[in-house]
This record gives sequence, C-alpha cells and structure tokens, in this order.
Amino acid sequence: MKSAIHRDTWLEIDLAAIQENVQNIKQYYTKEKAIFAVVKADAYHHGAVAVALAVLQAGATGLCVSNLDEGIELREAGIQAPILVMGKIAPHYLAVAQKYLLQVTVSDWEWLEQALMYEGAKVQVHLKFDSGMNRLGAKTSAELKYLLERLDAHESFEVVGLFTHYATSDDTNQTDLLEQYTRFIALLDELGMTFTYIHASNSYGAIRLATEKRTNAVRLGILMYGVADQALDLPFTLKPAMKLFSRLLEVKAVTAGERVGYGLTYTCPQDGYIGVVPIGYADGWWRRNQGRTVYIDGQFCEIVGRVCMDQLMVWLPKKYPAMTIVELFGKHIPIQQVAQELGTISYEVMCAIDMRVPKVFQSEVN
Ligand SMILES: *Cc1c(COP(=O)(O)O)cnc(C)c1O
Repeated sequence: MKSAIHRDTWLEIDLAAIQENVQNIKQYYTKEKAIFAVVKADAYHHGAVAVALAVLQAGATGLCVSNLDEGIELREAGIQAPILVMGKIAPHYLAVAQKYLLQVTVSDWEWLEQALMYEGAKVQVHLKFDSGMNRLGAKTSAELKYLLERLDAHESFEVVGLFTHYATSDDTNQTDLLEQYTRFIALLDELGMTFTYIHASNSYGAIRLATEKRTNAVRLGILMYGVADQALDLPFTLKPAMKLFSRLLEVKAVTAGERVGYGLTYTCPQDGYIGVVPIGYADGWWRRNQGRTVYIDGQFCEIVGRVCMDQLMVWLPKKYPAMTIVELFGKHIPIQQVAQELGTISYEVMCAIDMRVPKVFQSEVN
C-alpha cells in the first residue's frame, strides 16, 4: 500500500465502506452464495491489494481479475484465496497461471486445442457459457460438452467452475436478463452435473436474481464499491468508497473582462478570483469537465477555461487561502453525478483516474 503523497491531489479510499457494502449485500441478497469480489483494473482504481484484503476479511470467498498480471500482483502480496482470471489468457501462459495458482477461463475449442499441449501441474479452470452477450463464452451446450470431455481426459486440468455473464443486468426491464438466465439454467440441466462454483451474476444480477438458487456464487464489482448509476431500492445505504480531492495551489484576483486558460476561452464576468487546482487530463480529469463544478468550502465552483494536462482553473466567489481543499467528487458531488454530466458511467470515471494520483486509505487520513 503506497501512501506517500508529494502532491496535492489524491484519491481517498474508504476500505471500511467496501467491507460494509459487501456485508450488507451478503446479508440481504446473497446469503447462500459465495462472493467473488471483482478487483480487476486495480479494483476499479481503489487499489487491488488493499481492497482484496478488505473484502476477504469481510467474507468474500474469492477474487476475480481480468488478466494474469492482476492475479500475480495479488499472489505476490501473499493473498491465498481463489483467484479467477475472467479474461482469456493465451494458451502459452498456462504455466504462469499454474505457477501462481490462478484459475483460468476456458470458452472455445480452438483455444483448447492449443491448451491441450500444456503438460504441467494442474490448472483449475472455469468454463464460460455465452448466454447472449456475444463476448467470451461457448454458445452451445454441444461445444461445452466437448470442452468438458477434453478437459476431463487431460491430467493437467481440473474444471472447478461454470459461468456466464449477463449483457443486461443493469436494465430495469428484466426480460432479456431472465432470458439469459433461463439459457444458462437450461445448459446446466443439459450438462446434468455440478461444479464447485456456478456463477452468473455481477452486482446488478446479484440484486435482481437474488432469489434464484441454481447458482452458488456471484461476482461483485460496482456495488461493492458503493456506487450505482441507477436508482436501486436497497434495504441499506450503499457507501461510496472513492473520493477525489485536490487543493487550491494559487488564488489570484482578476477583473471583469480578463480571460482564462489555453485559448482564452473564458471571460471573467465580473471582478473576482481564479483558483488554480493541480489536476488535469493526465490525471484522468478530462477536458470535458470544463463548465462542470467542484466543491470548495460549502460552495459549488465552476471549472473555467480549458482543463490543462496537469491543472485546471476554477471561478471563486471569494479569496480563499492557498491549500484550501477542493472536492472533485465525494460527499457533495457524487461520482454518479459526474458520470451523468459527462455522459458516461461511474465505472469509467473511476477507471479513468490515472495511476499518478496517489491513493490514501481512509484509516490513514486522521
Ligand atoms: C467486471 C465484471 C464483473 C463485475 O461487474 P459489476 O457490474 O461491477 O458488478 C462481473 N463479471 C464479469 C465477467 C466482469 O467482467
């Protein structure tokens, strides 16, 4: 966990909030199911190792990542829980998966043909079914049966899971979701066998299909981080775990008519103050944020002029002292609102924050 900060822009990560979210989801929706916490992309930029340790402590059974390197990072931090690599690995990396005891996804026979040349120690695999999204996954039960047979016949593989991923779990109209679920269950029935882990739902699926009993695990991402881009009627309060802060590094008086920033695109409407904040598009704070607001000492202040690579300027109602804290998102500006105003989803706002922005875990903040 890196906590050194030598710059005045930082992400504040509340690990206790993540733990509380996991416990609440478990209590109300997934009591009987194992939770695989999705910590891909550095745990949606919350810090993979710190989040993984926190969620395992809070009752998660395993972890999901997107690629081998993300899994290796967790193993090198000493984490021993099951880790599934949900994305596809090249067959020639199977020895790496084995070395780090990472479970891999198998979803098509062309891949398997090459994978069968692998002859090392056992690799655990989850078979993936495509229930309609047309991303990864075998589309027919015939193909899955073939994969199963070939894997069973090979000493170096052990099938421990069967899964799918829904294309529309976040859709309020659940027709498509139920159709995908039904396809998955029909497949299960046809295979007529059981797996250690049978999983289909991401966060929204876990909520919407809470009562179904054919799967025994869920893959939780966004809700664990305490964020929902749509109104969900939950019996508990989600606690957002990520906040983005910076500081006013310079505050200057301006007179009406003066212009601000690259291209001098903003003209000061009256005498006032401009604050310079050390965050820019290289930090993942896109140029499109021009015209949006930040929160400073009880006021919403407009981002004026173009957002630069490393800095932006805000219009201030009064002369604030340098080092005054600026909230980009957090308690007063929810990340969902930022996402909405930028025409995207919270996932993308989180993942856009660049790795050069240090993370401060809340226990370390006073
Ligand atoms: C990212 C991902 C998840 C988690 O999704 P959330 O919507 O964040 O809960 C689950 N399963 C797969 C296959 C994923 O890629």
